[in-house]
Amino acid sequence: MSKETALKSAEAFITRLDAQKRKIAPFVCFYGGEPLIRFGLVKNIVAFFEERFSGNPQYFVNTNGTYLTREKFNFLRDNRFMVRVSLDGPKEIHDRNRKDLFGEGTFDGVIKNLTELRKFDERYFRDYVSLSFVVSDPKEIPLLNSFFSSNFVVRDIPKICAQISCKLLKNPELSKPFSERDLQIVGGDYTKFVSSVETSSSIDHPFNFWWAKYLINIHRRPLTNLSDEIISPNLCIPGAHRLVVHPDGHYGFCIQGADTFNIGDVRRGIDYEEVYKLIQKTESMLSQRCPSCWCARLCPVCPAKFASGTNLSHSLLDSICLDIRRHIERSFEYFIRISRDHPEAMDKIVSSEEKRD
Ligand code: SF4
Ligand code: SF4
Repeated sequence: MSKETALKSAEAFITRLDAQKRKIAPFVCFYGGEPLIRFGLVKNIVAFFEERFSGNPQYFVNTNGTYLTREKFNFLRDNRFMVRVSLDGPKEIHDRNRKDLFGEGTFDGVIKNLTELRKFDERYFRDYVSLSFVVSDPKEIPLLNSFFSSNFVVRDIPKICAQISCKLLKNPELSKPFSERDLQIVGGDYTKFVSSVETSSSIDHPFNFWWAKYLINIHRRPLTNLSDEIISPNLCIPGAHRLVVHPDGHYGFCIQGADTFNIGDVRRGIDYEEVYKLIQKTESMLSQRCPSCWCARLCPVCPAKFASGTNLSHSLLDSICLDIRRHIERSFEYFIRISRDHPEAMDKIVSSEEKRD
């Protein structure tokens, strides 16, 4: 992304916040590729927000962890950056998934940088650094569990776990799908872990991210009658909740699977007609099915989950609905088991998002 495009988008963002008279601080996220390769540009953007916004803007960077140097530690810490580092587990797994330009695995460098960052400022590290890891083969889950729970550098910081969609890979061999059995094993292990935590005030487990949100939603579910008009409590308004600026300056609304949508650009601003069409299409697809669905109140569906190219796909939604219902059904099972055997444990579960509040 050019400096001109980056600063234009920052300017447009501030202008929108001013026009809406919103008092909330901007939350500015840097994704790549690898954003820290363009560290100078990151600094320019941060300087712009610090100068133009009187409150405390918040920053986030998603990095592969190989470019973390002392100069960057200082800058990230001083600007209260939340840092998410991609680390796929122990060396043999991480190095298979993540290689540098020369084809060498990056595990040693990432762990060295994380160790130094932790030594540099322990408190900042624990409060602001998290990991994301990808499960490319469910058979490796025990190895991941054991690594993330025992490695002294990373064991006590939040972890966000993702599974690669085989459909998105050029080589589908790189990722193996989860079977029912695999999911049962992960869920069973998580339930046991939650039930065994006696003293800690919150639960940290490598797969917390997968289950915590569902379990918390069930635990705190409203017990009032459901309105006839409910579609999904989690739908976002494209461009309002999050605005993504692509390197060429066009706007998208999501980085998770819906990145091909175009809802304007830094020169023209947001294309509200496109946004409106998208909302209408989403509503029309969901209003045909959600009001009669038993899990409507707990469902995390959002357009990113059934976006295909520049459209929303009915067939993708069909299969997503099946997955979501299975996941919620399973979460109910775990919720009942935990609540029956260790009712106090439910209050200790904290989602990865809440931990950052
Ligand atoms: S993941 Fe879903 S809720 Fe979040 S920005 Fe994307 S479409 Fe919206
Ligand atoms: S599972 Fe499907 S039908 Fe049910 S609430 Fe979610 S999106 Fe609607």
